[in-house]
Amino acid sequence: MGSLPTDVLENNFTCPANTLNPDEFRRQGHMVIDFIADYYQSIEKRPVRSQVEPGYLKKRLPESAPYNPESIEQILKDVQNEIMPGITHWQSPNYFAYFPSSGSIAGFLGEMLSTGFNVVGFNWMSSPAATELESIVMDWLGKMLKLPESFLFSGNGGGVLQGTTCEAILCTLTAARDRMLNKIGRENINKLVVYGSDQTHCAMQKAAQIAGIHPKNIHAIATSKSNAFALPVESLRSAILSDIQAGLVPLFLCATVGTTSSTAVDPVGPLCDIAKDYNIWVHVDAAYAGSACICPEFRHFIDGVENADSFSLNAHKWFFTTLDCCCLWVKDPSSLVKALSTNPEYLKNKATESRQVVDYKDWQIALSRRFRALKLWLVVRSYGVANLRNFLRNHVRMAKDFEGLVAMDKRFEIVVPRTFAMVCFRMLPPISLVEMKGDGVKSAVHANELNQKLLESVNASGQIYMTHGVVGGVYMLRFTVGATLTEERHVKIAWKVVQEHADALGLWHYI
Ligand SMILES: *Cc1c(COP(=O)(O)O)cnc(C)c1O
Repeated sequence: MGSLPTDVLENNFTCPANTLNPDEFRRQGHMVIDFIADYYQSIEKRPVRSQVEPGYLKKRLPESAPYNPESIEQILKDVQNEIMPGITHWQSPNYFAYFPSSGSIAGFLGEMLSTGFNVVGFNWMSSPAATELESIVMDWLGKMLKLPESFLFSGNGGGVLQGTTCEAILCTLTAARDRMLNKIGRENINKLVVYGSDQTHCAMQKAAQIAGIHPKNIHAIATSKSNAFALPVESLRSAILSDIQAGLVPLFLCATVGTTSSTAVDPVGPLCDIAKDYNIWVHVDAAYAGSACICPEFRHFIDGVENADSFSLNAHKWFFTTLDCCCLWVKDPSSLVKALSTNPEYLKNKATESRQVVDYKDWQIALSRRFRALKLWLVVRSYGVANLRNFLRNHVRMAKDFEGLVAMDKRFEIVVPRTFAMVCFRMLPPISLVEMKGDGVKSAVHANELNQKLLESVNASGQIYMTHGVVGGVYMLRFTVGATLTEERHVKIAWKVVQEHADALGLWHYI
């Protein structure tokens, strides 16, 4: 008895204030908006990469939950003092790491509206607008990208908003798997082979693991500097032929437009041509670079997509829409539905039975789903195609400027030519040292170590934040322009910061 809380023992708990009281919502909501606006206003002053040590927060917060309610004022104070130091500022104009997660007012407000309604749109009936707006916006975006009609609802294909690319690949791979196994027999699952390059995002490996593809049947085809780390078409063909000879069944190819390490572009058209000959499902993963393809001058990178089976991009990367929002289009939605649908009694309804509606629960892993279309709709309407193109072009132009600055400094080299808004570069080791060692391997290692040191020195300063990639054994720094608040001056200063840290390292290394 002694362990029961006092409110139970005394039966004296009081009914708390309504947690959705509209007046309180207005008061506290305004406070939070002010908090975030102040944050954006001062974001530039903060160290971009969080400087805390692992476990920092445990030391600062109480060991257990408060028994009595606390005020929003107190909580926001703790967000400022305790949470903020552990935030890496992805919205900072000095953020150039990974790929961007570009925010916008429209994306934010769309997210707010969606959270405000807080509907769970698993099927049409559960909130018709959530489903219908999603289909409409996906057709809009598909047209902006000049996707072939066969990917749009108007052409018997269709689009769906997933959380992330990992989910998009898993869903399409599962659809492809079941389509194939229904033909060749479920017992043949260990024969199925999936293809990508050694630059394909690990999302494909994860999807293959979950979908039950045998680990030895996940083929990463080697790329090289000679074709800018794109998937070599002929290597794919010979891999397929030798797999068929070995009694395996080619199933799925993930082609990437804008790889994560270096934004390489796999030749979508020629790859699809080969895949077609062997009835392989082709998914085009354009998580980062797909957004740029709304600009006519970048559209050619997805030429040939008309022969792919599915295409995805992350609106939450470089399209001003808050995480999460992955846009996936498929030519044959029925293959997704066959693999992913369920039909429990408690969800049965007239609309579904009429077959007049889309039930998006059958196009994704989870049952419950957020009203993500609202934020994408707000972004597209608020900025229009014209401005969206301008934003993207502006980032590309700034990256080009940065590339020019790098090229002018003899201590540095561009590792792979820039395609979108990311520059891959590195510092060269001092020549004297290379000569002294007279050993190509050792000096390559030395260059990699030097660049690791340079990157850590830059990031530890908090002035800017970049991350790295390794292609063909070369460790390089990735400088991605894409944070919404970034202006030309930030890019110029960023280059100065890199040079200053290189100066400091360079001296040390010449001694
Ligand atoms: C970022 C990225 C992914 C992973 O995206 P998630 O949405 O985090 O799953 C996959 N592929 C490419 C090419 C990417 O750049």
